[in-house]
Amino acid sequence: MIELRAVSKVYPGGVTALDSVDLSIGAGEIHGIVGRSGAGKSTLIRCLTGLDPATSGEITIDGVNLGTARGAALMKARRKIGMVFQHVNLLDSRTAEKNIAHPLEVAGVPAAERKRRVDELLELVGLSDRRKNYPAQLSGGQKQRVGIARALAAEPRVLLCDEPTSALDSATTRQILSLIRSLRDRLGITVVIITHEMSVVREICDSVSLLSEGRIERSGPLLEVIQDT
Ligand code: ADP
Ligand code: ADP
Repeated sequence: MIELRAVSKVYPGGVTALDSVDLSIGAGEIHGIVGRSGAGKSTLIRCLTGLDPATSGEITIDGVNLGTARGAALMKARRKIGMVFQHVNLLDSRTAEKNIAHPLEVAGVPAAERKRRVDELLELVGLSDRRKNYPAQLSGGQKQRVGIARALAAEPRVLLCDEPTSALDSATTRQILSLIRSLRDRLGITVVIITHEMSVVREICDSVSLLSEGRIERSGPLLEVIQDT
């Protein structure tokens, strides 16, 4: 589903943030990318979403090469990725359901179809009874559920989660990770979780890559990789 071949990113000024990264993530996998601050995690995310091009190498999402695709094909590849953030950034003036509906409105989805989709998404994340609540009326975990539903609105095939639980306590973290796993099971999506916390990886990931100073130090099935750490 996601393939990186010899991907490097050198920022103007000469900082090498990614140094010949090879990575292969299969469809339906939950893959963790772990690294300390400065390891290159944010850079990797920006390259994967196509926000910032890699300096060299190849990134392929579901068969589409991000470096060579143009126009409609590139848009289509980008829409395969839904993003979940540490700080959910909901619109405070909008209820949970309207936050979830927002990307659908922007995409011009007709109202009746939007409503059907939003109902389905609220059900998927277990928030149907909170649909009319504003962000200020929701707990941290509930806000993250809204964020996950919003990320799924455009029916992506990949959920790219950037420190999804770093702002949450440990009980809520477990609930959110268990939700992410059940979404993978129900929807068959591929999940990439970027984190600095090994505990998150142990709890949920099938496979993991350790990123350090822009290089993948180890990558493989969870049990093989954590044996040596
Ligand atoms: P992480 O997300 O793991 O903390 P980053 O991808 O943010 O790591 O950073 C990796 C390296 O690239 C760091 O040395 C950082 O200082 C550098 N870096 C990140 N963004 C930029 C930028 N826009 N310009 C120059 N250097 C950057
Ligand atoms: P307003 O005119 O106040 O913006 P709308 O009725 O046009 O309100 O709805 C705005 C958004 O909220 C739309 O995207 C719509 O799909 C969504 N929405 C409104 N009511 C519901 C509902 N009951 N369930 C799901 N989504 C809803």
